[in-house]
Amino acid sequence: MKKVMIVTGGGRGIGAATARLAAQRGYAVGVNYLSNDAAASSVVATIRDAGGEAVALQANVAVEAEVVAMFQEADRRLGPLSALVNNAGMLQKQMRLEDMDAERLRRVLDTNVVGAFLCAREAVRRMSSRHGGSGGAIVNVSSAAARTGSPGEYVDYAASKGALDTMTIGLAHEVAADGIRVNGVRPGFIYTDMHASGGEPGRVDRVKQFVPLKRGGTAEEVAAAILWLLSDEAAYTTGGFIDVAGGR
Ligand code: NAP
Repeated sequence: MKKVMIVTGGGRGIGAATARLAAQRGYAVGVNYLSNDAAASSVVATIRDAGGEAVALQANVAVEAEVVAMFQEADRRLGPLSALVNNAGMLQKQMRLEDMDAERLRRVLDTNVVGAFLCAREAVRRMSSRHGGSGGAIVNVSSAAARTGSPGEYVDYAASKGALDTMTIGLAHEVAADGIRVNGVRPGFIYTDMHASGGEPGRVDRVKQFVPLKRGGTAEEVAAAILWLLSDEAAYTTGGFIDVAGGR
């Protein structure tokens, strides 16, 4: 049976590595992105050049109507969904909590929490045996920050990932009998563009000394864990987490 996956935030970083690896493993891939059309198109072109199937899907995951339209477009262009990777996420400039305003907090929570909930909802409506679906799997891309709290940098971002971890557990139990597994990965310090959004592009090299393995991780190392959780090899794993954080 054809395997179809949507990767949110699949144009760059961890999402792009996940989309590429998924295509190698035989998935037709919907590569969601927010605004960087060139990056998402390049991921799609790489997959197609290798003989795979992929489409770019523009949508802001924080906007309900855009999420609904994106899943409908994926239905039309790729076929019935079997996997969702809730990877889209963002953070803002490093600062202490006492300096954060409500607008910033809402932006972070809207993308990292509301966005993941809306995409999970659309995926469950399609994959659940309750709704006539054939089952499937969801992986939520959380962060080691959910455990550490990111003091002095972005407690708001860390808390959004804590919320995502709670959703992973609750949803996993809720849909287990409906043929859907839900798991999380918690990356540590990974070399991607995200750290520039926090105001420190070189952050991974500054903090890698605090990691037991003494290095930053790669997007491909996170993608490998995501693809394992989605695979049949993980058929008895739900509501679980893999830390891809070098021992931190
Ligand atoms: P990244 O390089 O900054 O890429 C983020 C991707 O998410 C981009 O494709 C971006 O789209 C997309 N995106 C952002 N907001 C979106 C929205 N509202 N709707 C749809 N797409 C949106 O980030 P990354 O480092 O690969 O991070 C991926 C995930 O891993 C995030 O959830 C992040 O929190 C988590 N994580 C990362 C690290 C790390 O060290 N890098 C550590 C722990 C957890 P555009 O390309 O259009 O901008």
